[in-house]
Amino acid sequence: MKLSVVVPCYNEADGLVELRRRVVAACEAVVGDDFEIVLIDDGSRDQTRSMITRFHDEDRRFVGCLLARNHGHQLALTAGLSVARGERVMVLDADLQDPPELLGPMMELMDQGFDVVYGQRRERTGETYFKKKSASLFYRLLNLMVDTAIPEDTGDFRLMSSRVVEVLQGMPERQRYIRGMVAWIGFRQTAIEYDRDPRFAGETKYPLAKMLRLALDAITAFSTVPLRLATWMGFALAFISCLLILYTLAVWVAGRTVDGWTSLMMIVLLIGGMQMIMIGVLGEYLGRLYMESKRRPIFIIETVLRAETKVPEVARRAAD
Ligand code: UDP
Ligand code: MG
Repeated sequence: MKLSVVVPCYNEADGLVELRRRVVAACEAVVGDDFEIVLIDDGSRDQTRSMITRFHDEDRRFVGCLLARNHGHQLALTAGLSVARGERVMVLDADLQDPPELLGPMMELMDQGFDVVYGQRRERTGETYFKKKSASLFYRLLNLMVDTAIPEDTGDFRLMSSRVVEVLQGMPERQRYIRGMVAWIGFRQTAIEYDRDPRFAGETKYPLAKMLRLALDAITAFSTVPLRLATWMGFALAFISCLLILYTLAVWVAGRTVDGWTSLMMIVLLIGGMQMIMIGVLGEYLGRLYMESKRRPIFIIETVLRAETKVPEVARRAAD
């Protein structure tokens, strides 16, 4: 099979019909009939699951990957990738913010020998000022801390070769920041610029808390710089301490040793605060280490709806 399109869906019922129309059209234009569209139901509470089932019943090119519960975007995507069988795999959001029509140009770049073509956002219409600013600040901050350059202003919208997907799926970690992991894998990668549209329907499934969690996951998965903060702060404090010791001695010699409540309080509070922050940083890493050490499966697929496994009779008759 030439192409798999993998789309994680969480409460996306309102936009699925339009998604189907545009993705099928884009795929047919580029690879004819030789593709599959893997729709992942990430434990939705609306009609998403029944719609995926219906799409699969009506069109055997639709593969349903129904998860046992909500696992979050990155794990849902990982589950979908484990089901995909195409020689090339396109990852797409269900909300049509990323145009599926970019498939053609992306395929051309792959034909030139690239293994990954990732979409890079030029413009993001219909998103709040806060979201755009926080996202751009985050990508820059992250790149200050990591050794692998992770492309900025890039989501999970990309086309990958099956060997990249294979390496990606072979990385066993639970804490997945897929766009970073793909950058880390290497091979030849290139960007394709596009303007990001507003959501077609529904509202964002990434409220602030989830965005912060993804950001923390990304930083802790790719960098140990925060752990080193304690060392740097320690050196800085040691230097300041030397100056303060000299000052303390001078004041003592001058015989004015009772003053100093303000400075004492400031020092106690400052050092107390820094220590709490560093314990927090340690906790972030320790907690993740603990969760990884359990070695639980990172996602649970309840059912895979795939033509030849579900209705072999019908498939054979159709082939006759
Ligand atoms: N998504 C998911 N599980 C979740 C949250 C989101 O599968 O727990 C999917 C969602 O359906 C969409 C994609 O992840 O296809 C990106 O989410 P969204 O568009 O809400 O994020 P935003 O574009 O606002 O950052
Ligand atoms: Mg979106």
